Amino acid sequence: MPQDSKGKTVLDPFGTSVVADYERLYKEFGIEPFKPFLSKVPNPSMYMRRGIVFGHRDFGGILNAMQRREEFAVLSGIKPTGEFHLGTLMTAKEIIYFQQQGGKTFYCIADIEAYEDNKIPFEKSEKIAVDNVADMLALGLDPKQAYIYRQSKEVRVKDLAIIFGRAVTLATMKAIYGERHIGLYLSALIQAGDILLPQIEDFGGPKPTVIPVGIDQDPHIRFTRDLAQRFHRKYRFILPSSTLHKLMKGLDGSPKMSKRQMNYFTLHDKPETIAERISNAFTGGRATIKEQRELGGIPEICPVYENCLFHFVEDDDEITKIYHDCKTGKLLCGEHKKQAIERVLKFVKEHRRRKKRLIDKAQKILQVE
Ligand code: SF4
Repeated sequence: MPQDSKGKTVLDPFGTSVVADYERLYKEFGIEPFKPFLSKVPNPSMYMRRGIVFGHRDFGGILNAMQRREEFAVLSGIKPTGEFHLGTLMTAKEIIYFQQQGGKTFYCIADIEAYEDNKIPFEKSEKIAVDNVADMLALGLDPKQAYIYRQSKEVRVKDLAIIFGRAVTLATMKAIYGERHIGLYLSALIQAGDILLPQIEDFGGPKPTVIPVGIDQDPHIRFTRDLAQRFHRKYRFILPSSTLHKLMKGLDGSPKMSKRQMNYFTLHDKPETIAERISNAFTGGRATIKEQRELGGIPEICPVYENCLFHFVEDDDEITKIYHDCKTGKLLCGEHKKQAIERVLKFVKEHRRRKKRLIDKAQKILQVE
């Protein structure tokens, strides 16, 4: 499993990932920094502009396609576990961004992974998937320009996984994913099938494909790029590209959102729960108001600021002002938390209103009664 030489970075798509220093990932894992591309991207997303998309693999091919208005694809997905938290929301917004930039869009419901990793039976994940697709539609995914599917129902993905299986040894799987049950190795092969699906003949053949993911998913990208190379003669695959975004902290300031610590909220939580979690969040504030006025806060370590930066303050000037006001002691944590709660609840209310009307459409797309 990818782990840096000092043992402080763990990238585990099936477990807990810890990133102590994003800069080190460039050297340790061969990830390229995204910054040099920023000025060249025709219409950079909020995540790109703010450095939240910090790295990539082979984004050059996608950039060329975007600049020349040539064909490219974007694929990402969701594991239907019943949660739509802010990490999921990031990937959702990124796939919609690339769709709006002209990418042929593929959205995968990873129900095989939900079964293998989270023991969620298919009858249950089928219902959750409807909800997830309705979330995506409410966020702005255009279903007419997207191929939305469930892994368990997409035979071409399963066929690719079977074919790829011949080229992979147990030692390779252990090196990438650690010691795991065979079902998880199988679901990694299925994911490789998802990632390369846009490039098979049924979808117009090889094309640059970008996979926007959190850095914890990078092992899947490396694994699939290796398979794309091995099967190049047969399929002419172009090595898939990725944009890699930072992981959100927990509201308690710990490096990752964790169910056990209940340190995050989802778009499905009750407004009172969301408000309570933000109220109780760790901050980068000082011990007293006097100190905060004098020394200013530390937004860099503050999950309340991070929530605003990643999701709830879209205007760049506004987020710069919040940062500045915190740093100079003009903004206090109590007041800021109150503002943040209002913003989040407004977003959630509006999202739910839109989503409610889209459930039927989502059922039709997934052919679920
Ligand atoms: S003022 Fe806001 S950004 Fe600054 S430390 Fe307090 S909660 Fe965080």
